[in-house]
Amino acid sequence: MITATNLTKRYGRVTALDNVSFTITAGEAVALWGANGAGKTTTLRCLLGVQGFEGHLTINGIDVHTQGKAARAAIGYVPQETVFYDMSVLETLHFYARLKKTDSGRANAVLEQVALVEHCAKRVNMLSGGMKQRLALAVALLADPPVLVLDEPTANLDVKAQRDFIHTIQQLNQSGKTIVFSSHRLDEVIALGSRVLVLSDGRLSLECPPHELATKLGLHRWLRIWVPAHHKENTLKVLESQGYAIMPNGRSVYVQVNLGGKIAPLRSLELANIPIEDFDLLDGDLALKEENHD
Ligand code: ATP
Repeated sequence: MITATNLTKRYGRVTALDNVSFTITAGEAVALWGANGAGKTTTLRCLLGVQGFEGHLTINGIDVHTQGKAARAAIGYVPQETVFYDMSVLETLHFYARLKKTDSGRANAVLEQVALVEHCAKRVNMLSGGMKQRLALAVALLADPPVLVLDEPTANLDVKAQRDFIHTIQQLNQSGKTIVFSSHRLDEVIALGSRVLVLSDGRLSLECPPHELATKLGLHRWLRIWVPAHHKENTLKVLESQGYAIMPNGRSVYVQVNLGGKIAPLRSLELANIPIEDFDLLDGDLALKEENHD
């Protein structure tokens, strides 16, 4: 579905992509992983045909250099954040259908695909972050493209909205869409990806199945658990007694876990009759984490 050969992109002296080659087969869900500045967004921008590059790139057999418009038509793009005009959900879809010159009769079908049917009369300004992201997905699906490209799809969503959105993308993938997404989140990559391409300083440094990523890159995973304030002290005691590396943080506590061991600390708390309000999985260096909610 996608073939990239020696993709190279230079911004002045900066080489953002350096001879990157990969192939993505129809129906795959491929994650682009890498630190800030590794070249993920640049790769996505090449796929979208919105910037010049050296090398060869085909989407659905169409050359992005020579038939940019036709290649772009094969892709639905979901940016990290979309700004919408203040219209209703349905009006927004009709507006984009006109803009994209697609059949506005598909609006209802895509609303169903992204589980927004019951919110179709709501004004966009009244939607939650998760619903706005679903609307952006609906817009991307209007022309029924075979490929969906998503830039850090759940980066700005709360935990529940992240899970729901990933579930929707999984369903789209199962229905045959090829998915390409950039991500910083290991849980998202594992839940959604069938393969990971790791970029480092503009080069493709590793390609592996998602479940091998943490071990291969030596990543830490952290389980963040929210408990009621009056259970906090006991929570720390229980987790410490089990030998976990922990870090209290406001109303929550971070627990370092193995890839397969994320449930064990939750079980320990359950056995100690400590109610769990919420939990989330995070990867990498805690010092770099943004607070999502408290
Ligand atoms: P992030 O996770 O921060 O979005 P990324 O992996 O998407 O990072 P890119 O945005 O693709 O990385 O950037 C790759 C490199 O190219 C970086 O060094 C970046 O500073 C540089 N770069 C990207 N866009 C431009 C631009 N328009 N002009 C100059 N340099 C750029």
